[in-house]
Amino acid sequence: MHKNTSGVARRGDELKIMENSTLITLAEKLGNREISAVELNKFYLSEVEKKDKDIKAFLTVDHEAVLREAEASDRRRATGEARSCFDGIPIGIKDCIAVKGERLSCASKILENVISPYDSGAVINLRAHGFIPFGRLNMDEFAMGSSCENSAIQKTANPRDLSRVPGGSSGGSAAAVAAGMVPAALGSDTGGSIRQPAGFCGIVGLKPTYGRVSRSGLVAFASSLDQIGPMTQDVTDAALLLDVISGKDPMDSTSLDLPHTECFGTVKAQKADLKGVKVGLPKEYFENSGIDCGVRAVLESAIERVKSLGAELVPVSLPHTKYAVAVYYIIATAEASANLARFDGIRYGVRQEAGDLVESYFKSRGMGFGDEVKRRILLGTYVLSSGYYDAYYLRAQKVRTLIRRDFEKAGKLCDVLLSPVTPNVAFRFGEKSNPLEMYLSDVFTIALNLAGNAGISVPAGTDEKTGMPVNVQFMAPSLKEKELLAAARAFEAASR
Ligand code: GLN
Repeated sequence: MHKNTSGVARRGDELKIMENSTLITLAEKLGNREISAVELNKFYLSEVEKKDKDIKAFLTVDHEAVLREAEASDRRRATGEARSCFDGIPIGIKDCIAVKGERLSCASKILENVISPYDSGAVINLRAHGFIPFGRLNMDEFAMGSSCENSAIQKTANPRDLSRVPGGSSGGSAAAVAAGMVPAALGSDTGGSIRQPAGFCGIVGLKPTYGRVSRSGLVAFASSLDQIGPMTQDVTDAALLLDVISGKDPMDSTSLDLPHTECFGTVKAQKADLKGVKVGLPKEYFENSGIDCGVRAVLESAIERVKSLGAELVPVSLPHTKYAVAVYYIIATAEASANLARFDGIRYGVRQEAGDLVESYFKSRGMGFGDEVKRRILLGTYVLSSGYYDAYYLRAQKVRTLIRRDFEKAGKLCDVLLSPVTPNVAFRFGEKSNPLEMYLSDVFTIALNLAGNAGISVPAGTDEKTGMPVNVQFMAPSLKEKELLAAARAFEAASR
């Protein structure tokens, strides 16, 4: 680790402010020359040094690269060539999102030594605004999991209570932001992996509409569901990062060719109330008997808050939600079994030598993948096999359409939906040893991925019993991020 020789130490009082600084505050400090990009990045490097021994959110941090980029940023600002007012601000990156010259292991043994030869689309966009990719953040192996316990490298702890998990799969990103080791991070969400860990750690996490953000350079788990999104201190920062990372990318044919989002401006101008906004309450999400009473209490107070902000509450129904987890574990595993077939130890990652090619595949994949990944590959291969394809995969696709239609119908009755993010607060390590129990952590997040719509997880309160954070989820129809973020911002302002 680098010694703290930046002069930041002389400004002890400011450091406190910086610890939970938003991107907007940091941009102001950089803009009025209160701090340089090098000082700022040295500050975060020293925070990692201090805190990450216990939290273990980062797999690696390339100090030299970070400081080199910070120096370049300071030079640009000095000559009036800053790429944006955010030039020089570090952003943590989940280990499945490619950054040129950095490892890209997806927290898996099979890719342990892989260095990415290129930047992902989202990172190219970050760099175009001068943001600095900062470290590789831990995750469940190949983004399969809800607690980071499936990482083959290390277990990340929840900064709010080190005996608890940070959620997953973007648990490293959530923990790093919540602990103030980085001001914001990128995560990926296939079935809730941004929103659930954001909820467990008490930060904001946004899953954009499918196609809003390029998936180029995102290691594929389930290609029809995966989406990169921001994990931030507040809703305004999420809006701002969405504007930065979204857009058509010729390297991803599923990225949407739309006018650029301008969510930041909308959110900044957002009035403090929700008058005239129709907030739908999907009854199936509230009837779920698995919701813990502490979570339910926060949820009820959140509904009251939304009402007191002037919103009209509309009861809606998403009747096919009850099939979402089952459908997801057919479609996501089917896609994963195809996507992960390329990791055979020949081109990428760890190779186990053997007598012949097939034996080498068996050995490399056998030792390279963890148990959960193997379980999903087996399940996915099974549901795609001839004889079972129609019964499982095809039928799941049909139910997926019904789930999407539910959201379309609800979208005609209201502007945004409000729901829980998870049934419980962050659980303790080892508490959910049964895979099915773990899968059920995502009952409230998965349907949205199947529909392809946008959703955001926003802090709403704390569980009285454990003191752990509880978030709520706002969901919007496809491409309605502006409306989504504006509602979330008004809610956030009333929650603080
Ligand atoms: N927890 C879910 C799973 O294990 C979702 C993961 C994700 O969104 N990447 O598949």
